[in-house]
Amino acid sequence: MQLQTILNHVEWYKSFVYENVGWSALETKAALEVKLRPRANSRPTCSGCGQQGPGYDRLPTRRFDFVPLWGIAVYFVYAMRRVDCPSCGVTVEQVPWCDGKNHLTTTYRWFLACWAKRLSWKGAAEAFGTTWQNVFRSVKHAVSWGLAHRDLEGIESIGVDEVQWQKGHKYLTLVYQIDAGCKRLLWIGRDRTAKTFLRFFRMLGKERSSRLKFICSDMWKPYLKVIGKKAAQAIHVLDRFHIMQKLGKAIDEVRAGEARQMKADGYEEVLKHSRWCLLKRPENMTDKQTVKLSELLTYNLRSVRAYLLKEDFQRFWEYVSPGWAAKFLDRWCTRTMRSRLEPMKKVTRTLRNHRELILNWFRAKGAISAGIVEGLNNKVNFVPNSIGKAPKSYRDSACRISNAEVSRS
Ligand SMILES: [Zn+2]
Repeated sequence: MQLQTILNHVEWYKSFVYENVGWSALETKAALEVKLRPRANSRPTCSGCGQQGPGYDRLPTRRFDFVPLWGIAVYFVYAMRRVDCPSCGVTVEQVPWCDGKNHLTTTYRWFLACWAKRLSWKGAAEAFGTTWQNVFRSVKHAVSWGLAHRDLEGIESIGVDEVQWQKGHKYLTLVYQIDAGCKRLLWIGRDRTAKTFLRFFRMLGKERSSRLKFICSDMWKPYLKVIGKKAAQAIHVLDRFHIMQKLGKAIDEVRAGEARQMKADGYEEVLKHSRWCLLKRPENMTDKQTVKLSELLTYNLRSVRAYLLKEDFQRFWEYVSPGWAAKFLDRWCTRTMRSRLEPMKKVTRTLRNHRELILNWFRAKGAISAGIVEGLNNKVNFVPNSIGKAPKSYRDSACRISNAEVSRS
């Protein structure tokens, strides 16, 4: 069987044919090039208005990434025609395997987006020999496709989170719906500025924004500002996961400082290999870590005091009444401010500044889904549900090819 036969089976185009398939001369690794050409006498379609028109000229050959076959990269190769369109002027033609200037074929984008549900984005990029950016673009495409084809009515709770990507300080803003029956990634934007997040609210629209009941976020200022402005009626909850993460970071700082100090003073290095037993919850520790922790507890160390303060703070989340939780929080803050542990005091000041928003967690707890209570712990691997509703042809071909990929490995 020839590759063209398979390609015609998974993706048949009315106006284009697979001319031939050969090894690529451009790559150092094995790669396949699938040359396409228009069917005889077919006229190009204007990308502006979708009407067929007379051909104008041809652009240089372009390559489009297609789904890898048996681990071998596959490129579609085609020289785009330009159309002399009576209504739009000279435009580039529209082709069925791709839209706009994208160098990823639509099928490949759905394929990557499907895998990005199961793997981390980085993992998906590595598994299919592509870049993180391509996976990101694919997910973004899937999400915006989903948005354009999906109803945004009835969203009551959302969560906003930032993810760092690449090394350095590049961020994305992710917005999730976290209602009980429906958890999904709603929107992705570049950066984590107020401007970014405002774009989400513009997309959602005034009406729907005013119907939001709960919003969950971390303590990132621009987000807080935008939420206050665009959805003031919603109960704004600070995410439990992020608060505990801040405490964890503070303990880490105390421990690192103390370990350095002890080494400089020539003491025995009791803090060596102690990092995880100070950060983990007791129930998640290995036996070895439990022993290490009980050893540490016999010393009056700053790290241990920080650890005990954090463990004590866990009790905070067990309160039911916001009033009692508030009392606990205030007492805990006072105690920690007297601890002479600078990193812990820093977190405490932040907690005090956001007291009301933190207590909203208790106000929201009884009223809504576990979504907010659980927080945004799962982050990026949250399922972009829109993919489930992808056009059937894409979904099918992507899945067929992905099944081949799975059975190979
Ligand atoms: Zn046109």
